[in-house]
Amino acid sequence: MNYCSTRDRQVGRTAAQAILQGLSAEGGLFVPEEFPALPPLDELSRLSYTERALHVLGPFLMDFPADQLRACVRDAYAPERFGGLDNPAPLAPLSGERWLLELWHGPTCAFKDMALQLLPRLMTAAAGIAGDGREIVILTATSGDTGKAALEGFRDVPGVRLLVFYPRDGVSPMQKRQMVTQEGGNLSVCAIDGNFDHAQSAVKSIFSDPALAARLGQAGMRFSSANSINWGRLAPQIVYYVSAYCDLLAQGRIRPGQAVNVCVPTGNFGNLLAAFYAKKTGLPIGRLICASNRNRVLTDFLRTGVYDRNRDFFTTLSPSMDILISSNLERLLWDLSGGEPVKDWYRQLAAEGRFQADDSVRARLAAEFYGGFCSDEDTCAAIRDTFREEGYLCDPHTAVALKVCRDYREETGDAAPVVIASTASPHKFVNSVLSALGQPLPADEYDGLRVLEALSGQAAPAPLKALEGKPVRFDSAIPREGIRDQVLRALGL
Ligand SMILES: *Cc1c(COP(=O)(O)O)cnc(C)c1O
Repeated sequence: MNYCSTRDRQVGRTAAQAILQGLSAEGGLFVPEEFPALPPLDELSRLSYTERALHVLGPFLMDFPADQLRACVRDAYAPERFGGLDNPAPLAPLSGERWLLELWHGPTCAFKDMALQLLPRLMTAAAGIAGDGREIVILTATSGDTGKAALEGFRDVPGVRLLVFYPRDGVSPMQKRQMVTQEGGNLSVCAIDGNFDHAQSAVKSIFSDPALAARLGQAGMRFSSANSINWGRLAPQIVYYVSAYCDLLAQGRIRPGQAVNVCVPTGNFGNLLAAFYAKKTGLPIGRLICASNRNRVLTDFLRTGVYDRNRDFFTTLSPSMDILISSNLERLLWDLSGGEPVKDWYRQLAAEGRFQADDSVRARLAAEFYGGFCSDEDTCAAIRDTFREEGYLCDPHTAVALKVCRDYREETGDAAPVVIASTASPHKFVNSVLSALGQPLPADEYDGLRVLEALSGQAAPAPLKALEGKPVRFDSAIPREGIRDQVLRALGL
């Protein structure tokens, strides 16, 4: 199993090389050249999450020795890292054949942990497999959750350094708190005066700068990425869709082979792409429902075939989805178009901020996907209604998905069972959740946690409560033009 670049089919990489490198030199993303078929689902459904993960991941990571991969997966999803749960990604049933796939039981309380607990282990293994002894410098742009999950995942990993950039006014108070108090000797965190797209573009351009790569090389270092542009982020996300289907089978909720829809609150399109990839390996997924907030660039694209980022950027109640350049869409388009047009479309996107997909791609998008979006008002209503009607407290990102899922069902009449990705703990977005429930805002986040606990009867996750009183370690903020200099300074170059 090899990987090529979405902008150059001739670039061939093994899985280990693709994970180490992160992004291809000409700016493309690594994609598998073929998709392995899943083993029979009735067999998988009798296995644990770890065993399911090994069956799903093994064929994608052929150059990783089986015992090494097993050790990585076991360690990453050990119950003590996921709230004591044997299954790190459990399903919570709602009415109307809807299931929330809770992906936030990891150390940072958002779904990014599902991949970022495994990625550092894969990366260390990959360096050994590829015989690359250089120090790995991970640059990460974050809309809030990736940053913390990467910090937690890579903290004190030998041979790795991590630099995180987040938009100063674009993350929740709890998200910020989590990042600026991070412990560990091999990392730093810095705010920029821009949004996520600015941070991501700056980081991508640093990756594809040959002069900088040479300078790092001389110092015995190399760049890599912990964003979902890295294949090592995406592969672990395929697993939980397979595992959720297996759980529904094992619980007798669905018949073998029955199609299940999947609805995902979407930003950089990594999570929904992983569901699409799961479908390609043979998982019976029906419609892929793409839920956006007011930054509805993907809704418009799925409806019209025109991707146009020339529009206002909004900060919303679901900050981790405040994105206008959804990187992983490039991988989907590679797949749906046969590959060749992608390079041109992304050249147009870079030059003019827009491109139009051709008719055959539009037809395939319409057959596989549905796109919808949700205002902040409707996000609050979804939090409130879900709490009243189902006794379930959800975060604003999950609320966006619940609302769009309802719109989809009303519009199409398709009432097939649906798995809805629940991407963050409600306790991570205390203020938004409390105001959606009509509660007065507390003095600080920690008072908020206590109010939310009392209201819901659910204990707040221990890692969030533990932030109270931790000292701030990182308080630097820079203009976004300064990211490159900041990186050089941090590396002593
Ligand atoms: C990152 C994130 C998303 C968006 O996921 P993508 O893979 O970027 O589409 C949604 N919700 C939460 C809570 C997130 O942290």
